[in-house]
Amino acid sequence: MHAHSTDALMQVVKRPPQVFVSGSGSWLYDQGGTRYLDFVQGWATNCLGHAPPELAQALAAQAQRLINCSPAYFNEPAARLAGLIAAHSCFDRVFFCNSGAEANEGAIKLARKWGGRHRAGAFEIITFDHAFHGRTLATMSASGKPQWNHLFEPKVAGFPKAPIGNLAAVAKLITRRTAAVMLEPVQGEAGVIPATREFMQGLRALCAESGILFIVDEIQTGMGRTGKLFAYEHAAIEPDIMTLGKGLGGGVPLAALAAREAVCCFEPGDQGGTFNGNPLMTAAGCVVMQALLATGFLAAVVRKGDYLRSRLEQLAARHGLGEVRGAGLLLALELGSDAGPLLVERALQRGLLLNSPRASVLRFMPALNASEDEIDSAVALLDALLVERGAQ
Ligand code: PLP
Repeated sequence: MHAHSTDALMQVVKRPPQVFVSGSGSWLYDQGGTRYLDFVQGWATNCLGHAPPELAQALAAQAQRLINCSPAYFNEPAARLAGLIAAHSCFDRVFFCNSGAEANEGAIKLARKWGGRHRAGAFEIITFDHAFHGRTLATMSASGKPQWNHLFEPKVAGFPKAPIGNLAAVAKLITRRTAAVMLEPVQGEAGVIPATREFMQGLRALCAESGILFIVDEIQTGMGRTGKLFAYEHAAIEPDIMTLGKGLGGGVPLAALAAREAVCCFEPGDQGGTFNGNPLMTAAGCVVMQALLATGFLAAVVRKGDYLRSRLEQLAARHGLGEVRGAGLLLALELGSDAGPLLVERALQRGLLLNSPRASVLRFMPALNASEDEIDSAVALLDALLVERGAQ
């Protein structure tokens, strides 16, 4: 493999020197042929692992048939995928786009349009401290990441924030200007902070009583990641709007905005985009949905999630670390110190890809079809690193 310089890539994030060239299942290979056990999986996008044959074949077949006919026309895979999402959720209609941030922009626009029509011009969307909704200007403004407080000013107005779990604080923020509340069922980028079932149920009831919309951002939690197809199902509630991304395309850029019929008030020209719902990406989404809906798939995610959780709890007990939290195969280990970035760096040197969304936290988001052996290998490697750290 010929080595290419990475100098022409714009610097937007600190990256290690490895250049990855191929992947298979839970494994990723760099230019030198070194392999890495991947528990980042494209930031939780590769729900079926690297290069799953059924996805690769569907993409190749669709590429030979039809790649893009413009969103001005219907195409078969988009219609099929929208039908699958509607059939397996509480939502009636789906709009496809290319990234999670774009899906959330769409949700914000839809809620504002709805507020304009049905709530006398209401436009505010209550979001949460430490929330992460994307990197466009509106979604950064909707996010509650403290490091972004003064970045790219002025912010997009209209996103009052409440602490997660505090229903009274949300209720206090609701005024005649409020159109919606937007919540991540598990705050992933904040360090894997789950909203409780009671909080989700309380929000659902509060939104209904107040005549405002309840939006769930399931970009990280959706598509089986927490052991249910969508995380809102754990709370036995039905939100009004949901956004999806990441796992929806199994690694290719595909995201979606789903809404109940009564909320769907976009008029021609309000929303769109050149690549939206193209047949190549939505064909990938169909393959992912079919895999997740196959008998036993989600039950296996629950089993593997329980297994990874128990192995991490053993590790935490052995090394005197903090709690393990999350749901399904979106888990975090609280380290009790700011060792996260160093552990991530050392794990990479030993062939394990991990992520540290906060310095005191390690996050685990393996492929949903990772094996117990792969989970054991990852935990064993982490155990060895923690032993070495203890010995230093
Ligand atoms: N919302 C949530 C909950 C996310 O976790 C992310 C990405 O990490 C986004 C939105 C943004 O998605 P994207 O990076 O595809 O724009």
